[in-house]
Amino acid sequence: MIPSICGNLINGEWILKGDVSESRNPCNVSEVIGKFHKATNEDVETALDAAQASLDGWAQSGLEQRKAILDFIGDELIERCDEIGAILAREEGKPFAEGRGETYRSGQFFQYYAAECLRQMGESTPSTRPGVDVVVTREPVGVVAIITPWNFPIAVGAWKIAPALAYGNAIVLKPAEVTSISAWILADIINRSGLPAGVFNMVMGSGRVIGETLSSSPKIDAISFTGSVPVGRGIARNAVENMARVQLEMGSKNALVVLNDADLDIAVNCAVSGAFFGTGQKCTASSRLIVEEGIHDEFVKRLITATEALVVGDSMDPKTQIGSVVSERQLSQNLSYIQKGIDEGATLAIGGQKLDLGNDGYFMSPAVFVDTTSDMTINREEIFGPITAVIKVKDYDEALAVSNDTEFGLTSGIVTNSLRNSIHFQKNSKSGCVMVNLATAGTDYHVPFGGRKSSSYGPREQGTYAKEFYTIVKTSYISAGK
Ligand code: NAD
Repeated sequence: MIPSICGNLINGEWILKGDVSESRNPCNVSEVIGKFHKATNEDVETALDAAQASLDGWAQSGLEQRKAILDFIGDELIERCDEIGAILAREEGKPFAEGRGETYRSGQFFQYYAAECLRQMGESTPSTRPGVDVVVTREPVGVVAIITPWNFPIAVGAWKIAPALAYGNAIVLKPAEVTSISAWILADIINRSGLPAGVFNMVMGSGRVIGETLSSSPKIDAISFTGSVPVGRGIARNAVENMARVQLEMGSKNALVVLNDADLDIAVNCAVSGAFFGTGQKCTASSRLIVEEGIHDEFVKRLITATEALVVGDSMDPKTQIGSVVSERQLSQNLSYIQKGIDEGATLAIGGQKLDLGNDGYFMSPAVFVDTTSDMTINREEIFGPITAVIKVKDYDEALAVSNDTEFGLTSGIVTNSLRNSIHFQKNSKSGCVMVNLATAGTDYHVPFGGRKSSSYGPREQGTYAKEFYTIVKTSYISAGK
């Protein structure tokens, strides 16, 4: 049950004070999803002190205790995925099926790391010195700040919080302000899981105020951030100042390459789902479609037909495939990129209009640009909306070069029946995740996730690779004495 005003979670208690903010449904702005207290900088300090005080106890807690707590959180997320998925969808604007899916997947992250609690192994080896053994063990990093974006308000928190807890760390979470109620639901479940007070704390509010205080605090040992590149850069600077460990997952400009020998059904499905599902507000979205000239015209024709058929609407309408844009600011930014594309000479083949669906939601029609070149702004900057651009290329070599011609490197994809080109692309694409005959969006939870260049900084997230960030290695040399 969501309270009339959601509080911040500090040392196991809900702190019900501070300015009150509202979270509204971007599909229907007059609907208030919930209200929450904005944390102050003092709250951040108190939360950090609580995390610090709880750290040793949690770091020494039994592995079965940790497993049971993570299972509790994961099981509840999965059991309540319909109810929570609906709130998430109404708060973020994505269709209910996507909100439900995100909640379910978040539960799987907790269940996966629950199992990982019992798979924590060290290494031992003889020393180069006779009579000495070397033991390599992992310990928690300490107090971890976690700062998350609005586009996956529960899942991004889940894939950071679950490993942080599994490996014995204490946490202060600062979720994105526009999706505070979804974050509160996750915090509420964590708070009822049996976790000792202070191990998990959550402060809600503005990034520029409390996010900055959190990331610049000398009380944190590590910070895991997902969000935009400019904010990530500032967080990295703050972390270095305090010698805190840092992990950043940021923006993208993911390319889907379509070669002449592609199966057109697969190519169009990958392009449409990759570019537009989640309203294009996925860090893994296909915002560039790089198409070989022999298949270009037919691909574009079918892409336009498929885009035209997409149903834009309210997140809770079962017919809806594309929900609203998250906010008025994001919508006006998207529309300004549409204008920029036109001004720079691209052809707007379809969409790109603000839609009036009879309420005050932030809807726009999914947009496809054609006749674009790699140097246009729409192909260089992350838009983070339902807008994609087709770039025609003469052959595979040019397709690869154009797909790598970006400051980003999160995901990339290729649709082809050529084994040679798919293997070459998999080896030479400068991205963190490569998809062959699959959309650029859509990843698993048991394997590493992350990118290159401006998309990511620091160790990988997810799967067993998460332990590189959430643990610190200790090398011990042990002699039995005389
Ligand atoms: P954002 O950078 O504006 O905000 C992210 C978080 O940082 C929010 O919680 C925000 O309040 C906080 N923040 C803002 N200013 C801060 C500051 N000065 N100090 C500390 N914290 C601050 O990003 P957003 O608009 O919420 O999310 C969209 C971005 O997230 C896109 O660029 C998208 O690509 C990226 N993203 C990346 C991934 C990935 O895994 N690579 C996943 C999801 C989203």
